[in-house]
Amino acid sequence: MLIDTHCHLTDPRLFSQLPDVLARAHQAGVTRIITIGTDLADDQAAIELCTNHSDLRCAVGIHPNYVTPDDRHRVDELRQLIQPSVVLAVGEMGLDYHYDRAPRPLQQQLFQAQLAIAQQAGKPVVIHCRQAVDDTLAMLNEFSDVRAVFHCFTGTFAEAGRIADRGYLIGFTGPVTFKRNDELRAIAAAVPLDQLLVETDAPYLSPEPMRKHKTNEPAFVVHTAAMIAQQRNISLEQLGQATTANAQRFFAWP
Ligand SMILES: [Zn+2]
Repeated sequence: MLIDTHCHLTDPRLFSQLPDVLARAHQAGVTRIITIGTDLADDQAAIELCTNHSDLRCAVGIHPNYVTPDDRHRVDELRQLIQPSVVLAVGEMGLDYHYDRAPRPLQQQLFQAQLAIAQQAGKPVVIHCRQAVDDTLAMLNEFSDVRAVFHCFTGTFAEAGRIADRGYLIGFTGPVTFKRNDELRAIAAAVPLDQLLVETDAPYLSPEPMRKHKTNEPAFVVHTAAMIAQQRNISLEQLGQATTANAQRFFAWP
């Protein structure tokens, strides 16, 4: 049993073939899926989708690459959006200094606002962090009781250590299977087992050996899990049990 704790089922590439995507996930042993909203319209679509499927839940938030100046005035809307019981977490949110699509002060402002919402609601957060570990950890410092997962981790050994030392979870995606990423595999083998999550970030980042499929999907999380299990010298079943327990605990989805 595996849970894909991070994908984007509302993306047209997946949404247009959703019954098949969900059937293939089930067949692969991926029994539960958490779909992640990236802006307020997408968040609404994610909630609607989960309301109609008992094995789907969502996180809703505003992705740092999609924040707009207008979002500063729509924080109350997000506060309302996280209320339904299918919303397990707030996000994805965070800082992206790699693409720098939005000005950094704006990214920081919306990140902080979303952390405040999560703290108030007692919900965990899903963090998108690209080349911004220092600022991300500094901002999380102000919200010390908020639980967080650093999703799609692709940083360095030292960064993973700093994140894990603070008790946050670390999510690994397809890149852990890519040939050149030996360091990332070593990191995935070293993260404490009770702080590890496996995810797809579908439709992005298909893992090996499915990379020829341009559209990633939750069923493929098996390949990421298998690679990490191999690196850790445990069975896929053991890895699945551990990451499933982590996901159930972190997202409060018993
Ligand atoms: Zn994502």
